[in-house]
Amino acid sequence: MDYLARAADLQPELVATRRDFHQHPEIGFQEHRTAGILAQRLADMGFEVQTGVAKTGVVAFLEGAHAGPTVMLRCDMDALPIQELSDVPYRSQVDGMMHACGHDGHMAIALATAQILSEQRDQMHGNIRLVCQPGEEGHGGMLRMLDAGLLDMQPAADIALGLHLWSPLAVGTVGIAAGATMSGSSVFRIKVKGKGGHAAMPHTTIDPVACTGQLITALHTIVGRRMNAMDGAVILSVTGLQTSTNTHNIIPETVEITGTFRTFNAYTSELLEQHVRDVSRSVCESVGCTADVHVRHLTIPTVNDKDVVQRVTQVFGHMLNAEQINDRPHTMASDDFSYVLDEIPGVYFFVGIANEARGINYSHHHPRFDMDEAALTMGAGLLSAAAAAYVLPDTV
Ligand SMILES: [Zn+2]
Ligand SMILES: [Zn+2]
Repeated sequence: MDYLARAADLQPELVATRRDFHQHPEIGFQEHRTAGILAQRLADMGFEVQTGVAKTGVVAFLEGAHAGPTVMLRCDMDALPIQELSDVPYRSQVDGMMHACGHDGHMAIALATAQILSEQRDQMHGNIRLVCQPGEEGHGGMLRMLDAGLLDMQPAADIALGLHLWSPLAVGTVGIAAGATMSGSSVFRIKVKGKGGHAAMPHTTIDPVACTGQLITALHTIVGRRMNAMDGAVILSVTGLQTSTNTHNIIPETVEITGTFRTFNAYTSELLEQHVRDVSRSVCESVGCTADVHVRHLTIPTVNDKDVVQRVTQVFGHMLNAEQINDRPHTMASDDFSYVLDEIPGVYFFVGIANEARGINYSHHHPRFDMDEAALTMGAGLLSAAAAAYVLPDTV
């Protein structure tokens, strides 16, 4: 079976499906229309469909004609609170909301993959469980699906496969690597409390704004000065700042700063959390302020299984030229598919979407984000072939 050729037959449908989702974006846990379409299309293909898993999630099961392993495939459904700035005919019809991460494409690819695999049900030695996840964009969607019993569903999944359309890679290429490929992500919120007062009499106050200036600088030196470079790349960014009053003649009582840090292993993440706490306390104490620090770990690093990567790369090697396969696609971005890969051996790979010549080169989460839709064919061809490697015995 030539999976890329079969996916190419489905290209008009892939594009139409992606553009329909793109025009009707829905934010995390509000994906009602989106989930409804996925559930209906999957039921039409012969999948047993469960809806309302973790509110808007959809889980669809296809039992093969013969016994064998169960392969979990995952796509995510949510859009972002971003106003789309592109002028494309299929631009978002919802003000202030857009699919700026490519999840519209992930769903189109998942449906095409489901179609391709369901056509081979009679030859299938094993089963497919397709998981359409709500709230990937920092809403904890996958954790809620796990709470809803995703991994207890029978037969239990033996292998988990997923992909992200990826703007750092050119269309026509794929990124796949063993080990930690996406970072774990944590968020912090630090409330700096001083003593407010008249801006003309700062000596009667304890100024939390001046303190926060020092604190931001100190936080940004943690990675370079306190972390061991051998512990793997880490990033810490202060991204938000809010004062309790916001005018020129009042020194506020409190300032709250927010930010994120990203690491490739749990040990580094715990160490970084401790440094954030220590630095916040000591900088604030030095000027008489107090620091109230909250840290929340949103996702763990995404770690691909060595054997699955080897098998899937072997399959891709029969479909693509060597130059099309990038084996070092590491990124500080995060994805909560990591929680599945923590439990089930699998792989999360990247499918290139950038096309410089056509000006398709904006990063994920940018208001002009778009994709070269040829990537949809590539994604569906590769994902169905990767699944086939485990459930269709004649796969190379
Ligand atoms: Zn995203
Ligand atoms: Zn995403």
